Order: sequence, then structure tokens, then C-alpha cells
Amino acid sequence: MSDAADAGDAANTAAIDADAVTAAREQAATADRVVVKAGTNSLTDDESNLSLQKLDKLVDDIADLRDRGKQVVLVSSGAVGAGKGRIGYEEETVEESQALSTIGQSQLMAAYSDSFDRYDTKVAQLLLTQHDLDNPDRFTNIRNTIETLLEWGVVPIINENDAIATEELRIGDNDRLSSSVAIGIESDLLVTLTDVGGVYTGNPKTDDDAELIDAVGRNYDAVQSIVDESATGGFGGIRTKVEGARRVSEHGMPGIIAGSTAPDVLARIADSETVGTIFLPINGTDNE
Ligand code: GLU
Repeated sequence: MSDAADAGDAANTAAIDADAVTAAREQAATADRVVVKAGTNSLTDDESNLSLQKLDKLVDDIADLRDRGKQVVLVSSGAVGAGKGRIGYEEETVEESQALSTIGQSQLMAAYSDSFDRYDTKVAQLLLTQHDLDNPDRFTNIRNTIETLLEWGVVPIINENDAIATEELRIGDNDRLSSSVAIGIESDLLVTLTDVGGVYTGNPKTDDDAELIDAVGRNYDAVQSIVDESATGGFGGIRTKVEGARRVSEHGMPGIIAGSTAPDVLARIADSETVGTIFLPINGTDNE
């Protein structure tokens, strides 16, 4: 058996108590406050054009949660991607990506605003940098703003402020940003939506034998080593999603990585169904 197959076995067979998984799915289902993160691939088509079909699907899924009385904060990527499609330009430099983000971000927000109008729901834009998250005063202001928007029934939509996020201000990817926000605003659940269905024992795009890992708890090290092997470089990718989900789980909140194209994906999570990969909350007891 190859090392990768061994690692896959370890990730899947490590004894995770089935009751703990059920309890985590129930905890996720009853979350009052949910942070949903959507990646560029979940919002753009193969030509890097903003896909209104994908965006409407995401908004429909969020509306399902709001209909159940939950508060939802959306962390959305797609600014650079949409900008690229909008002007038909493939960026070569960081400065060009930054410029593209400013084109795509406004298009993205206009599309969200129209799409949420279908539910008579208003949206708000927050563009953040690492500096804003690290500085307690700034973070308090962000949190107060988000609390006020949620009280008003508005959906806060957050992205990194790519135009001013030079190296030292950069968060780097929205997976990290979404976990920081989820922890900072004391959310009850982080759902990371991606174009693959969750965390697999290999890269599902290239490996037909890759199997979905249902739950991550004390098999975390095995899962992480698979991810390190199968991950490709660049922003996002499965590694940062796994790190983000793990981070929130260490703060006692479940993290779920699930497929953005899965039908009714958020409603099914709210129905305690088995969807994607759940990271079991760590509550200071040996409950993994
Ligand atoms: N802020 C970038 C954008 O909206 C995305 C960063 C990421 O992919 O996580 O295009």
C-alpha cells in the first residue's frame, strides 16, 4: 500500500465516536449565527465571468438559513476573478490583481444586491485587511458594525480589501479571514463552500479513488498530512480551508467544508444532514 493510501486509511478509520459526529451535526444545525464563505470558483464560470446562476444559488441557500431565523454573515471571494472576466484581462502582476479586484468587487456587490432583492433583503459591504483584524480598536469597530447590520436584518458581505492589502497588510486568503471573523463575532458555525464536496483522501479532481472524509476530530493530523500532499499552491486550495475549519473547531464551533453546487446545501446542514466534511468542535474535553 502506498504512503498516500495508508494516510487515507488513517484519516478515515481513526475512531471518531459516531455520537460525537451526530452531536456536532446537531450543534451545526441549531447555530443561530452562521458565517458562510464562498470561493471564487463558486461564483465565476470557466471564462472567469461572474456567474449569476451560481451567485443566485448561493443567495437562495443563504435565504434558506435566514428563513429559519438564523443570522448570516457572508465572506465572499470573486473580486479578482470577476474583474478579470469583466475586462477580459489576465493579470501578470500583484498591482494588476489589485486593480482587477476593484473592478470585480463593485460588480460582485451589484450582483449580490440584485440577487438579495429577490428576498427583499439588503446587503452591506465590508472590506478588511489583516491590520483591521489585529488591531483591537479596529476589530471592535468592525464587530459593532456587523452586530448593528445583523440587528437590522442586513446581510454583511466581507472580502479582503485587495486594493490596499500589500504584503504586510495581507490576510492572504478568505479562508483565514472567514475563520477570524467567525471567532471574532462569536459565530456558532463556519461553512466553507467550495467547488469540491469537502475534504477527500486525495485530490478529487485528479484522483478517482479519493474518498470524502465525513468528519475530522482526532484524525486531524492524518487529514492534514493528506492535504499537504494533495494540495496545490496558490491562494485558497483545500489546505487553507482545512486550517480555517480547524481553527474555529478549536474555539468550540463546528466547521463544515461542503460543495457549493450541492442542492440546498445550507438547508441540509440546518436539518442536521450529513453534508461535506465536519470538523468537530473541541470543547476542552476529550469529545472528539
Ligand atoms: N480577495 C480575493 C478576491 O476576492 C480572494 C482571496 C481568496 O481567494 O481567498 O478575489
